[in-house]
Amino acid sequence: MVSYGLRKFRETMMKKILTFVLLIGLISGCSGEQESSNSADAEYKTYKWRLVTSWPKNYPGLGMAPEKIANLVEEMSNGQMQITVYGAGEQVPAFGVFDAVSSGSHQMGHSGGYFWKGKVPAAQFFTSVPFGLTADEINAWVNRGGGLELWREIYEPFNIYPIPAGNTGTQMFGWFNKEINSLEDVKGLKMRIPGIGGEVLKEAGGIPVTLPGGELFTALQTGVIDATEWVGPYNDLTFGFHQAAKYYYYPGWHEPGPMLELLINMDAWNSLPKHLQVIIETATKAVNQDTLDEYLARNNQALTELVEVHGVELRKLPDDVIEEFRAISNEILSDLAEEDEVIGKVYDSYIEFKNNVTEYHKISEDSFIEARNK
Ligand code: CA
Repeated sequence: MVSYGLRKFRETMMKKILTFVLLIGLISGCSGEQESSNSADAEYKTYKWRLVTSWPKNYPGLGMAPEKIANLVEEMSNGQMQITVYGAGEQVPAFGVFDAVSSGSHQMGHSGGYFWKGKVPAAQFFTSVPFGLTADEINAWVNRGGGLELWREIYEPFNIYPIPAGNTGTQMFGWFNKEINSLEDVKGLKMRIPGIGGEVLKEAGGIPVTLPGGELFTALQTGVIDATEWVGPYNDLTFGFHQAAKYYYYPGWHEPGPMLELLINMDAWNSLPKHLQVIIETATKAVNQDTLDEYLARNNQALTELVEVHGVELRKLPDDVIEEFRAISNEILSDLAEEDEVIGKVYDSYIEFKNNVTEYHKISEDSFIEARNK
């Protein structure tokens, strides 16, 4: 909060500085007036921005993350920045978010980078890749391991500034009406599974299908698909998949810790005064962690309800099936890295971080969890 007296003092000082700059501009024959006036206005004016998302309005977890960012930013800026959040299809389609922010038709978006794989294949590494980083690990890679700089570099040609903005934690492999006892059971399996996970399933003999979340229950119930992945117990319970499928398989090898993204149009971002940029970065960082906390707490409760109240049968994928999926995943990722220099650079950074953190976690978290669970 800035007191009225201090604000008046700053305004008076700003006017004096502007007059000086204008004079210098006139004297030197070049006009600095426009730019300087704009930055003075920018410091105090109210910003009303629109944020489009790939999620149903107010959808638990995923859809509430941008709502929380908007609320925090408004409170932290004392109302100077007001962000209106729109659900998928309200202003742009679920998968039109990237283009809307890139073109500047909307200043902000909230989504997942792997949806843009057709345009920016390397973006998938900033959401999740099969057998990749967990939520804590991807946070560490992006925020402290060089990932963020690479991410901003690959979105820069699209005029987009990305910020990590939520994580679901490790997902479940999903809901099945057929048992998976061996690799033979994967052959011909029609499953909704997007992204590289779908490519892995295809390579193993399955039939991957891409459908939006809202269509999954009916597709599963009517037998259009044999299986579907979605998120995890918290979100899956709200969609009622337990009423359409018998078995709930884990682990979610295909999405070990998907990071969500806040997308900001670069011109809009650059038009903001520094203090609002800091507020947006700080609020989004808080929501990135809060969303993960929410998923862990709610998943835990929802899984208990699914098993104890709804009688869901929890199943672990057989080891040989997991091994096959892992081998195929590694091959697909390294092939992808050879496609071009940019993907190769992101892949090298990601894999190096993953290898190092895996070795460290073997002696830290993994061995502790093993000890605790005995
Ligand atoms: Ca998923």
